[in-house]
Amino acid sequence: MDRIKEILKRLISINTTNLPGNEMDAVNEILKFFPQDIEYKIVDHGNNRGSLVIEIEGKNRDKIGFIGHIDTVPVSDEVSWIHPPFDGVIEDGYMYGRGTSDMKGGVTAMILTALYFIENNITPPHTLKFVFTADEESGGLGVRTLRDKELLQDISKVFIAEPSDEQIGICEKGTLWLSIHIKGKSSHGSKPELGINAIEKLYEYINKLKNTLDLEKKHPLLGNSSYATTTINGGVKTNIIPENANATLDIRTIPGFNHEEIINNANRIAKDMEIENQGMTIDVEIDNNRPPLTMDEEDNFIKEIISVYEKLSYQVKLKGINFYTDASQLIPYHNIPFVILGPGEENMCHQKNERIKIESIERMTKFYISYIVSC
Ligand SMILES: [Zn+2]
Repeated sequence: MDRIKEILKRLISINTTNLPGNEMDAVNEILKFFPQDIEYKIVDHGNNRGSLVIEIEGKNRDKIGFIGHIDTVPVSDEVSWIHPPFDGVIEDGYMYGRGTSDMKGGVTAMILTALYFIENNITPPHTLKFVFTADEESGGLGVRTLRDKELLQDISKVFIAEPSDEQIGICEKGTLWLSIHIKGKSSHGSKPELGINAIEKLYEYINKLKNTLDLEKKHPLLGNSSYATTTINGGVKTNIIPENANATLDIRTIPGFNHEEIINNANRIAKDMEIENQGMTIDVEIDNNRPPLTMDEEDNFIKEIISVYEKLSYQVKLKGINFYTDASQLIPYHNIPFVILGPGEENMCHQKNERIKIESIERMTKFYISYIVSC
């Protein structure tokens, strides 16, 4: 437990809030926990940003991957935290700090899992690849670069060590962020018929797109898809028909939804409305596009995990993850079995007074090691 606290505290003390990230500082800190002769590769993304891959050769060349991101979301309202967000204060068995749950706790479990084999001089049955990524909380630069450099393609199954409440995360929601820009035509407020009201057209557009989605459809672990208008602006004055209006949409999808289809509908509705309103233009931009993912419950990987859980007398519970993870940048390109499974609570992510139960990291480290030696 002391070792967990020491590693996590050191990771928390390194500010990797994204942007700017500065993940290279965390990469260098992680390497300090390891002997110098380990096999590793640093990928430099520039601007003090980097990702790290540590490999431990096993008896079998089949590779088990572990992925954990080392960036965190920013801290707002630092003074109102009950403990300073970069101090790693422990109280009642919890460590407080930005990134404790999301996901330096999971990164700590990965480090301890790797060290178990290195320090005890145990050759694992399979080769292990520990991947520490930059920029998961934003564009996913880390995992995309590693993927494009073909540093991940030899992994045959992967643990995403994100906080899953210690449950077995077999699916995650997709995310599609769109920006909509409408340019209409201004006119005097007393003569709206001479203009094209961009704000009213924007509402119309938002509702039309929403109506193409089956938001009633339910997934057993993830519930419904959702469609939210998250920012909106436009107009200049009470007595002027607005020429410009912009909105951003945050669409979250359950497995079965096809993002290409949503994007096609978004573009088609824009075209149709432009034809109906001569002189108006609608631009649709895609700001983030990560598909929903799901694993078959009957997949061997999931069955192996369940059997190790049972051996450890951990409670077996399958879970759907509501947020996106690095898996969304990997699995669509490299279709391997995956699971989202790590210490910490999902509902602590991105929260003020983020914390993690130290014991949770211990339990998940024990699980990772047990899985590796027995599967
Ligand atoms: Zn995360």
